[in-house]
Amino acid sequence: MSLLVTGSIGIDTVLTPDERADEVLGGTAVYFAFSASLYVPVRLVAVVGDDFPPAYRDVLATREIDLAGLEVRRGSRTFRWTGRYKPNMNERDTLEVQLNVLEEAPPGVPDEFKDSTYIFLANTHPVQQQALLGQIDAPKLVVCDTMDLWIANERESLLKTLGMVNGVIVNDAEARQLTGRMDLVEAGRDMLELGPQFVIIKKGEHGATLFTENGSVDVPAFPTEKVRDPTGAGDSFAGGFLGYLAQEGNADEDTLRQGLAHGTVAASFAIEDFSLGRVRSLTRSDIDRRVAQFVEILRD
Ligand code: AMP
Repeated sequence: MSLLVTGSIGIDTVLTPDERADEVLGGTAVYFAFSASLYVPVRLVAVVGDDFPPAYRDVLATREIDLAGLEVRRGSRTFRWTGRYKPNMNERDTLEVQLNVLEEAPPGVPDEFKDSTYIFLANTHPVQQQALLGQIDAPKLVVCDTMDLWIANERESLLKTLGMVNGVIVNDAEARQLTGRMDLVEAGRDMLELGPQFVIIKKGEHGATLFTENGSVDVPAFPTEKVRDPTGAGDSFAGGFLGYLAQEGNADEDTLRQGLAHGTVAASFAIEDFSLGRVRSLTRSDIDRRVAQFVEILRD
């Protein structure tokens, strides 16, 4: 078993109603890798510019994250994103995006990563997701994410990606936009028709729903007392979920359900601080303790 992620590495500026964090380490692949590496070693495929602070690379190196696929492209600039959360801390506006190196050629997959079996295609252009997947010899389980931009503007390519993956993780707004259904149960079922064997719809503070051919299962969000910065919740969820599946080496119905709990708990830690503030010091026993608490909550 070997788990590979490809996605963005960025420098984020995040504004919440009460606080802000400037120029912090972010990006979809970073949040995913930090959570998933608490379960199994993670192989990272991503590209940054030569302005990427060495201190941020050092942060990535503190975990079992293989950086052989991290390209530092000379003469290019790192992706930057600025977002502001609304008072409900659920919705956010993107104030500024500088795609920079993400607009250039995607990073290649190093030869030693081509035997990877579990793959997470974090949100990026669907054609780039397909190109990455095409470089893997024999993937066993492929899961992808996407976003409103690709659903609106690159629908055909996105449908092609969805036909190539085993699972997809999206949020409620994306599921509605993709299927044209307001009812999320109908949206989830429709998405199964597009190819994946399982679909997860995340609903922020309302938890997440897993859809398979056997029906659907709902889990609530973990009741976190303090939500300081929701950025990265979705990718941390995916990291906990897929990290658990990779650790177990299968994706049967029971494992998918357990994975939902692990994803939920991973996300609950990520939102307790800005950037990787909380996740950096997180251990596997912190996760396991909270999963046990979560299972108790689900029993009540
Ligand atoms: P999430 O909150 O899980 O949706 O992920 C937030 C992360 O996504 C932030 O750290 C951003 O750097 C990154 N991000 C935002 N917009 C994009 C984009 N268009 N492409 C790739 N990554 C993005």
